[in-house]
Amino acid sequence: METEYIIPKEFKSAVDGKCPRCRIGDMFEGPLFTFKSRKMRTHCPHCNLKFEKEPGYFYVAMYVSYAFVVAELIAACVATYVITGQLESPWVYLTTALAAAFIMSPFNYRYSRVVLLYWMTPSFKYRPDLYAEQKSV
Ligand SMILES: [Zn+2]
Repeated sequence: METEYIIPKEFKSAVDGKCPRCRIGDMFEGPLFTFKSRKMRTHCPHCNLKFEKEPGYFYVAMYVSYAFVVAELIAACVATYVITGQLESPWVYLTTALAAAFIMSPFNYRYSRVVLLYWMTPSFKYRPDLYAEQKSV
């Protein structure tokens, strides 16, 4: 039962764009799908973790983002086929695929970095002591 409690907690703070180390500070200036959502903070406002741990580290996030885009394109094409049921015109598919990629771009940008920092950066492990620090204040 305990894992059921821990996993959604990590997942939830990732969805919320919280700092992977303290889960309190926000990684981004604003919520998803707002103008500020693309502005990423350099450091965690709570524990002062430097998000871009080394110069160019976020280039790795581009590969994560690429995987997201591929998954979205496939989903968009499958959805197009299910809805329209037609296979003749490639334009319908191209349009929906491009629209999907465009609509999802803030999501891809944000969550490629979240996935990178949460699950691909072992040194950014959650530190409960930093979370406790705030609670005692
Ligand atoms: Zn933090």
